[in-house]
Amino acid sequence: MTMGTREERHNHHDFVPLAALIGKELRNERMEKPTVRYGCAAQSRKGEDYVFTKTDCQRVLGNPSTSFSVFAVFDGHNGNAAAIYSRDNLLNHILSAIPRGLGREEWLQALPRALVAGFVKTDKEFQSKGQTSGTTATLVIVDGWTVTVACVGDSRCILDTQGGAVSALTVDHRLEENIEEQKRVTASGGEVGRLSLFGGPEVGPLRCWPGGLCLSRSIGDMDVGEYIVPIPHVKQVKLSKVGGRLILASDGIWDALSSELAAKSCRGLPAELAAKQVVKEALRTRGLKDDTTCIVVDIIPPDNTVVEPLPSPKKHNKFLSCCFRSESQKSSSKLSKKLSAVGIVELYEEGSAMLAERLGNDDSNGQTNGLFTCAVCQIDIASSEGISVHAGAIFSTSSKPWEGPFLCAGCRDKKDAMEGKRPSGVKVL
Ligand SMILES: [Zn+2]
Repeated sequence: MTMGTREERHNHHDFVPLAALIGKELRNERMEKPTVRYGCAAQSRKGEDYVFTKTDCQRVLGNPSTSFSVFAVFDGHNGNAAAIYSRDNLLNHILSAIPRGLGREEWLQALPRALVAGFVKTDKEFQSKGQTSGTTATLVIVDGWTVTVACVGDSRCILDTQGGAVSALTVDHRLEENIEEQKRVTASGGEVGRLSLFGGPEVGPLRCWPGGLCLSRSIGDMDVGEYIVPIPHVKQVKLSKVGGRLILASDGIWDALSSELAAKSCRGLPAELAAKQVVKEALRTRGLKDDTTCIVVDIIPPDNTVVEPLPSPKKHNKFLSCCFRSESQKSSSKLSKKLSAVGIVELYEEGSAMLAERLGNDDSNGQTNGLFTCAVCQIDIASSEGISVHAGAIFSTSSKPWEGPFLCAGCRDKKDAMEGKRPSGVKVL
């Protein structure tokens, strides 16, 4: 809107040299971009939480005007190897799955699929190392006003906006709370139940067996079963011009504080102090029971240097918490009502655990130089070996088995195992 008015005004001038026009465009684009500031804080108990922050990524290498930021939290379990491996490799695997030479809009549109490919590739590669640990992974990409979040596990990411609307951008993949995931795990050959020692009473949260993991999705966990999939829930939103604050944290925070409390506890503080405050608040409430890690990311409108303190959201939340919502999309449907109310546009959301649905149909990514590229791990495969992601998809009548995207034999095996079609050390129903 602002740009339109500027351009109209601009047209009244009689003559402007092209170079000046381009310069003005670039300046406008730069001015239009929000500033990103962030802070991290953590208290360690087991040493299994890891963070990743990088604010100088470039879509076009060597061109600073194409910069974007990435933030991630990895909460490891059964050791820290999967968390460290994911911190060091996940982003590269995601970026290498984006076709080259895309403009900004196309690049943003390609992100959801690249996130799926990157998560699955990271999981597959880590498992091939034969180490038995797992990790949650919540990764946020901030490009201008567009925020894209991908997550497996329960390291939630929330968005706090001007007006006090607090909403989760992720879905918690906890068996206890996610009935749809319970059904999926059971249908893929896992058993879901509580811990029962020596036939005594059942205790603790719902877990899947074998393995006893409380999460239904993760990276790693080769000893648990392939139905614990690394396919992320992905959500992409475009913020309004007032910006917003992201709070990204491990369950050490979320087991102590609700989304609303976490947001409220740090309003008015700059990101660096805000992250510390959220951790402090969680420890005050619950003590140091678990690794407790928090990243606060402020997306600040160009004209403002300080985030204005947000008003109390009490009334708003009480009203919205009464709204009906489905079990699986608890956070999301609550979110959509709130988000549109504060001028945020939802561009994309998908949480299916089915790889074929997530990789979709593809006309572009298939063939290059007579070779096919695996949609997950990006290796070149001979056309005779490439298997369509849709092959054997009996529930999908519209998909054609000879259409891309294609998978290499290894990724095809992994896909079948994740869907319970191939034994992975557990019984298949
Ligand atoms: Zn592959």
